[in-house]
Amino acid sequence: MVKRVSGKVLSSMALITLGWLAGCSEQEQATSEPVQAEAASAQGGEIVVYSSRKEHLVKPLFDQFTAETGIKVSYLTDGEGPLMARLEAEAERTPADMLITVDAGNLWQAANMGLFQPVQSDVLEANVPEQFQDSENRWFGLSVRARTIVYSTERVKPEELSTYENLSTGEWDGRLCLRTSKKVYNQSLVATLIERHGPERTEAIVKGWVDNLATDVFPNDTALMEAIVAGQCDVGIVNTYYFGRLQKDTPEIPLALFWPNQQTSGVHVNISGAGITQHAKHPQLARQLLEWLAQGEAQAMFAGINMEYPVNPNVPVDDLVKTWGEFKADDLNVEVAGRRQVEAIKLMDRAGYR
Ligand code: FE
Repeated sequence: MVKRVSGKVLSSMALITLGWLAGCSEQEQATSEPVQAEAASAQGGEIVVYSSRKEHLVKPLFDQFTAETGIKVSYLTDGEGPLMARLEAEAERTPADMLITVDAGNLWQAANMGLFQPVQSDVLEANVPEQFQDSENRWFGLSVRARTIVYSTERVKPEELSTYENLSTGEWDGRLCLRTSKKVYNQSLVATLIERHGPERTEAIVKGWVDNLATDVFPNDTALMEAIVAGQCDVGIVNTYYFGRLQKDTPEIPLALFWPNQQTSGVHVNISGAGITQHAKHPQLARQLLEWLAQGEAQAMFAGINMEYPVNPNVPVDDLVKTWGEFKADDLNVEVAGRRQVEAIKLMDRAGYR
């Protein structure tokens, strides 16, 4: 569903487009910020972004970009599925120059659907590590998220924890909580397990998780952590920024993060990222925004605003995020999340992971 505020943004966008076509300025006056739009386009032009990253995570960045460059950014936020379907349906008529979304599984999917064009950029190559970008340069990571183990500080000692794989052993029988397998985050995690261990061993691991479940799967990471606090289970697997949000609200929350697989594969990491659309009307301006987001203060803000890790290793980590400590991250190219997504979904289904 399109959010109300974003819907307004889109309708103003659509009106502006119609205005261009009809050479009519009257319709532009019906939009919420026609003066700003005209002033900005006089200086630096305008681009349109579709974003499955929520408005409060992208708007401050777009405002800053406009302030620095004079390039106005109109945007539409919605779920990644609807946005990709929209881009596909609009085809060459799309007003969108850029798609921002989360998870390499989704970015890979968008690239596979032909929704992106390759971007040759020395700036992006210098600032976004190889591991976090498409090998054909159709999408680039902009923040890194870690999907790690969370545990009850009341009922678990960190020494009892070791790896994702170990959560499938009898030790955790009736003590594990998981989010639904429908969420791409878990599909991506399982995709990397398949890449490491092959399908047979991975299926045994996932079956072990399912056998250890204390309760039905959760719709989101926050509900899962609340269940641990409530005593329904002792451990789970979550993205760290959701833990950060709970910790910000309740600093004394009896939960902690654990970095698994430090002797083996490292912590599972994924990205949020963006690409320039196949039918972008302003590919140069969109590229300018993409390059701006990948470095400096914008990059720190893009990650910090959601308590994620900067994709650019030269950019400092947010202060609260830093308190969770350093860890070794999996160094697999995140493309594997897309490449093995279908396989992962089928495997989780066979293992009874709902
Ligand atoms: Fe998320």
